[in-house]
Amino acid sequence: MTGDNGRMIRADLHLHSYHSGHAGHLTFLRARDCYSEPDAVYAAAKARGMDVVTITDHDSIDGCLEFLERHPDADDFFISEEIECRVLGVDLKVHIKAYDISERIHRDIQPLRRNVFEAVAYLRSEGVFYALNHPFFFFKGQLPLDDYLGLALRLFPAFEVRNGTMLAAHNELSEAIVGQWSASRPSPLTAIGGSDSHTLRGIGTTYTEASGSTRAEFLQSLRAGRARAGGRHGSTWREAREIYGVVGRYWTTLLGAGRQELSWPRRTLGLGFSALSMPFEFSPLVVAALHKRDEARRVTGYRRELEVRYPIGRSGSAGSAGFFLAPGAATEPPQ
Ligand SMILES: [Zn+2]
Ligand SMILES: [Zn+2]
Repeated sequence: MTGDNGRMIRADLHLHSYHSGHAGHLTFLRARDCYSEPDAVYAAAKARGMDVVTITDHDSIDGCLEFLERHPDADDFFISEEIECRVLGVDLKVHIKAYDISERIHRDIQPLRRNVFEAVAYLRSEGVFYALNHPFFFFKGQLPLDDYLGLALRLFPAFEVRNGTMLAAHNELSEAIVGQWSASRPSPLTAIGGSDSHTLRGIGTTYTEASGSTRAEFLQSLRAGRARAGGRHGSTWREAREIYGVVGRYWTTLLGAGRQELSWPRRTLGLGFSALSMPFEFSPLVVAALHKRDEARRVTGYRRELEVRYPIGRSGSAGSAGFFLAPGAATEPPQ
């Protein structure tokens, strides 16, 4: 399980499987968020050169457990989860990735999702390594930018600075913030990366590299902030390809391929809807383009806002010791 050069381990730290639940739109169709089988996810990650593998499904570790049941001796695999939490008092969600967890931790964390402070306090008390995902995906100015960053920097020991579905501008802003913060602190924030892939195609194209030659050493390096993110950024095309990829797998399921969880009436409904909506099959591309345009507009605005007050991303800048921790930041962190 040694990395390419004998000292580095590479892993895609954000990827989904069949167990990521159902898509949030057109819920009557009961389409899934992802159709990739856990074994196929593992195989795809290995084929892309990942030394260790994990799966980060939405509020589920079933994919990880299913894989481990079939491969109990896999010493290059660990259980992880993408946990959706709410910031109390603000209409804001955050996605946390918790790594190398147990079934007990998964069970205990689920009721705490309603309050990110409780969830984070619990993860800390259990010594779990966790990260803030795609920092500007849900943040749309629900609170002042300084307060949001102050909160995020206090709560999270690691930021996802490269997400394979987010634009380069989004990822680069996250990386600049982490870099500047770490430069002024004794213990650096960990910068991690992952593809966030919901299809097999993108797995391993965005990744995290950390020193070590075993899974345990890799995780230790992540905790110590000795990691770097690499690989592709997202784009409209990548997002559209992901959407079409999941829709394609949904259709093949309706036609009888793969796991069959839908009743015949629901499959008929799905097929009927798909046939009727055929003339509008360009719409995922339009949706992706609109998403990405909004993301670009927002992150460019945040960057400008920060550059006015703090010299983000410029080397040799002074006075950053207390920055982003503006007085009156939204809420107190847990003890
Ligand atoms: Zn997410
Ligand atoms: Zn995700």
